[in-house]
Amino acid sequence: MQKCPAIPLNDGQAIPQLGFGVWRLEEDDAPDVVGAAIKAGYRHIDTAQGYDNEAGVGRAIAEADIDRQDLFITSKLRNGHQGYDSAMRSLEESLDRLQLDYLDLFLIHWPAPAHDKYAETWKAFVELQKQGRVRSIGVSNFLPEHIQRIIAETGVVPAVNQVELHPAYQQRDIREWHRDHDIQLECYSPLGGKDTGLFENPAISEIAERHGKSAAQVIIRWHIQQNLIVLPKSSKPERAAENFDVWDFTLSADDVARLDALDRPDGKTLPQPDENNEMF
Ligand code: NDP
Repeated sequence: MQKCPAIPLNDGQAIPQLGFGVWRLEEDDAPDVVGAAIKAGYRHIDTAQGYDNEAGVGRAIAEADIDRQDLFITSKLRNGHQGYDSAMRSLEESLDRLQLDYLDLFLIHWPAPAHDKYAETWKAFVELQKQGRVRSIGVSNFLPEHIQRIIAETGVVPAVNQVELHPAYQQRDIREWHRDHDIQLECYSPLGGKDTGLFENPAISEIAERHGKSAAQVIIRWHIQQNLIVLPKSSKPERAAENFDVWDFTLSADDVARLDALDRPDGKTLPQPDENNEMF
């Protein structure tokens, strides 16, 4: 089976670079779809309390013939569960649903600044990591200003920030900042969703045809070659397998430059980080 590289995190852990996203996967479909993804080679699964499918993901993990230490399981705290006590309680509920003793990575899903609870929530995350209930802690949809605040209040730097990042929305402005702070970026919606039209883009189609690969594989490879962690989702096992089959080709510098040129100001598909306080 092809091997997925691991990226070192700032807390001594390591994360498989290519993970399987499960947003919009129905709870009832999750055991089969996630089970098939694990058979296809994925060892990193990205779920969230807000996806309402942790129990289904847990069933897939329980039924998979893989040692727990060889899997990397992420979940995210629901916005409505922010706050010290409720974050502590909520992690236990996630572990119950996932049938796990620990999470590899737990993220604050959004800063939800209107509620002003993310700094207090981060203190609970630091405690959960100390207790060994989660191996690594991180954030999602945080702007540098939100990250600076939680570091100032705890001294603990998140291991990752999970943000929207794909060829139509490349986040070049924040990449260097995260590198300087030793925080890995995890790319969500890496295929860009339907509205960005990346699957039909002529430059991507030409590159894909030349390499004998699909548009999705070219886009995922673009992330991999920039050392970004990438989390494609598919509810179709054959597509999930296709998205993992990206280790046998390399984009040329010219291919990468053509993908780099697809960045655009209106490429974002989900709300800006500080504009969502309720969804999820
Ligand atoms: P993706 O960029 O992964 O795209 C998923 C879409 O592409 C689906 O419609 C899927 O359809 C389709 N697709 C997948 N593979 C292929 C393929 N090979 N060929 C053609 N179509 C394909 O979008 P997501 O928004 O789901 O993001 C991925 C993951 O990122 C999520 O599942 C979640 O884990 C995470 N995420 C995190 C967020 C956060 O706030 N932290 C926000 C959004 C996402 P189909 O399923 O029918 O195959």
